[in-house]
Amino acid sequence: MATKKKVRPTRRLANVEDLYGGGEKGNLLGGLYNGDPRVYAWLQNRHSKGSGIIDSRIGRDGVYRNGEHEWKVPYGVRYVLRRRLIHAQLVNKYPWYVTWKSPKTGKRLKKYFNALHAAVLFTAERAQYVDPSATVVCRIGIDIPYALVGKLPRPWKWCPCCMKARKFYRVYPPQSFHRMIRDPITWKESIREIPLLHCRVCGLTNRDHHYLKSNFWLVQRRIKPGVRRVKPMSKVKKRRRR
Ligand SMILES: [Zn+2]
Repeated sequence: MATKKKVRPTRRLANVEDLYGGGEKGNLLGGLYNGDPRVYAWLQNRHSKGSGIIDSRIGRDGVYRNGEHEWKVPYGVRYVLRRRLIHAQLVNKYPWYVTWKSPKTGKRLKKYFNALHAAVLFTAERAQYVDPSATVVCRIGIDIPYALVGKLPRPWKWCPCCMKARKFYRVYPPQSFHRMIRDPITWKESIREIPLLHCRVCGLTNRDHHYLKSNFWLVQRRIKPGVRRVKPMSKVKKRRRR
């Protein structure tokens, strides 16, 4: 007997937020839509359309201009606007937030967003007037764009959540952790105690794997054929890994 083809129930959505409702707190894609290629394509299309509009307002100097509004868009935000969303960003209800400090209380405030273009619009046309250092934050960190690898001067480090270069500071009270560090030549591992640092805006620490990948680009050294003795990496370049 031929089995009937399963047809997904269709219903008109009043709001994008109706797609979500899965997970413990209801912030993940609902079970009905999870894995549905049409839903993913729709979300991707919305991202590319919205980002296209925002991108058309960004000049070559990276400044967003719309009427009287002007805002310098960080390099990482421009980079993400021009790329497709990753799976973790598709299935999350609020993958982005905008953060700023309240001028009255000095408290850090947040507003969560479902779409990146909405977050950029909010920062450029509203939040920046309250706090000039208002930032768009990606809750799922992104790696450093390839064009910036190895180009950030000290003490700047790539913050995967702020999507820009930031200074990282020690947490208070001071904490430390241990990490395995691999020598690129001998490929031997050693354990080192490292102080815990954090970004004062988004709170990301130097324990994060996106932080490690972006700031310590591990490249295996090429050894020419015929070379018998190779200097250890510690003698070639003294660099503290944090
Ligand atoms: Zn940050």
